[in-house]
Amino acid sequence: MHIRNLDVLEEEHICPDCNAKMLACEAPPVHVGDGLGWGSEVLFICLNDDCPPFKNGWQKVDVNYGHKGTFRNMQLPGSKELNCMMVASPMAFTGSIIDPEVMRQQNERFQKEQAAIAALPTCLEDGDISPVMALILDEAATPAGRKKAVEMLILFNDLSCIDPIRNHTFAKTEFKQATDIVLERLLKANLKKECPFCAELIKAQAKKCLHCKADL
Ligand SMILES: [Zn+2]
Ligand SMILES: [Zn+2]
Repeated sequence: MHIRNLDVLEEEHICPDCNAKMLACEAPPVHVGDGLGWGSEVLFICLNDDCPPFKNGWQKVDVNYGHKGTFRNMQLPGSKELNCMMVASPMAFTGSIIDPEVMRQQNERFQKEQAAIAALPTCLEDGDISPVMALILDEAATPAGRKKAVEMLILFNDLSCIDPIRNHTFAKTEFKQATDIVLERLLKANLKKECPFCAELIKAQAKKCLHCKADL
């Protein structure tokens, strides 16, 4: 997840019912049009289990709705208006508390990815392979951008891309396979191969490795 406006995380919200600090949580994903969206990526929620609306809510929900649930106090960023959210379990939202530091790092990664995607169309004429490599090696980048980057490797015809890619652990075998194919083509086009013993690049027709002296 990434948040467009990180300043929101600096806001302080105090629960009017229990004085506990309300914690910034990721808003749950909602289907567009069902009317449940809060129009915010972040919700400040009182997760204090001694908060009266939470403590007393179980019985209220049981009596009024006939199912298991209670309420959590919630405020939206930039507002002190108190909202009551129905939750089905004490665990609701505890898994979506936002750590501002983690969020900052995720935002930074996201911005780098966006910059790399924006640079893709011109990086070949600029002779700059770095956006291509950034996308290929970024496991969190969107697959479409990474695929495009893998395709562009062949156009750069730059053998220096081999080591970082070989040293990278791909979470998805599909990217590992796609890069393997491209690197194979790249080596062939340059009449090179990788020594199976020391992984150094050698001439395709070599019978003995220049680096480790192994017989091939
Ligand atoms: Zn509270
Ligand atoms: Zn070798």
